[in-house]
Amino acid sequence: MLQYISASVVYPVSSPPVENGVIALEEDGTVHAVLHVEQAKEQGIENIKYYEGFLVPGLINTHCHLELSHLFGKIAEQTGLQGFVQQVIKYRDSSEELILEAMQKADREMLENGIVAVGDISNQLVSRAIKSGSRLYYHTFIETLGFNPAQAKTIFEKALKMKEEFTPLKASIVPHAPYSISKELFAAIKDYSLKEDNLLSMHNQETEDENLFFQFNQGAFLKLYEFLGLDISFFSATGKSSLQSVVEELPGSKVLLVHNTLTSAEDIRYATSVHDGLYWCLCPNANQYIENRLPDVQMLAEANLKITLGTDSLASNHQLSILAEMKTLQENFNLSFETLLEWATCNGAAYLGIEEQYGTLEKGKRPGINLVEFAPEGKISGKTSVRRII
Ligand SMILES: [Zn+2]
Repeated sequence: MLQYISASVVYPVSSPPVENGVIALEEDGTVHAVLHVEQAKEQGIENIKYYEGFLVPGLINTHCHLELSHLFGKIAEQTGLQGFVQQVIKYRDSSEELILEAMQKADREMLENGIVAVGDISNQLVSRAIKSGSRLYYHTFIETLGFNPAQAKTIFEKALKMKEEFTPLKASIVPHAPYSISKELFAAIKDYSLKEDNLLSMHNQETEDENLFFQFNQGAFLKLYEFLGLDISFFSATGKSSLQSVVEELPGSKVLLVHNTLTSAEDIRYATSVHDGLYWCLCPNANQYIENRLPDVQMLAEANLKITLGTDSLASNHQLSILAEMKTLQENFNLSFETLLEWATCNGAAYLGIEEQYGTLEKGKRPGINLVEFAPEGKISGKTSVRRII
């Protein structure tokens, strides 16, 4: 038997919004149809449950680090990326019990905030049990880190082993960032990605020093390497931005570039000319937390890129909520609710390769359905809320 729900506006995302639209649902939450209210009347449909607000598909968080959830409230804000990394190293160790408890809470928080699927960076196996028992879909990015060429082989083999240990959960092997991966390690990931279906993701241009390091071998990163005890005498500046220096090392049909705070129009021209499968993830609240700076989102939006949203971790955010990321973007840039919703749903689903089930309200999909309340005319404010109703 079908059940019917309706609201002030229904946003299928794959097609224009429907005022007073009616969603017909199968018992398990699969969308059967999205109807105009007149169609529903013509068909004699009764027993429609009406909500005040918007009905939207489940939200997709394409960048999180579940295993850092226990660092919530521990990291000082606006210290810059180097200060952030140093603090994470300092506070990361904790008892497994506390780490598990914090991840469980974070997983529940995402569910309550209408998130249905997560792209999650992992350096360890510790999140496996939480992900296995979760109602959310997780794709785990096994993150490699290693600027010392001599260690590339060992690091890659360790990642391969971890990927096996995550089975049957979906996982792929990814580089951390341009400045933390040796040419040799990039090459190992590239070889693997050309042979296997290996969804790629990489932190990109989060801070000005990342470009400075690649262009001139200068800036605060030199201090960071010193702090980490790394001899980087083998490195020579490329004279190009970090993205332009490494984008050719990222093969595969889809690559997610995360943050893009310092990405220029020229970087975009270059990167999109050599790779046609790039997705661009924005994590504005984490950018404000760490660097107090935002990417040029207007420029990114106008470049017609495939943009997705992410929360990053509770080490650099006050909450795990895609709606809160949409709010920050709407406050700082000229972006419509519909554009933000596309970034928050179907683009993330397409990137994660789960668009057959998630991302839009279309017949045959079971995307999860959220009610967004208190957003008059699509204006997201502190009063706006989201909750999952299906
Ligand atoms: Zn991150």
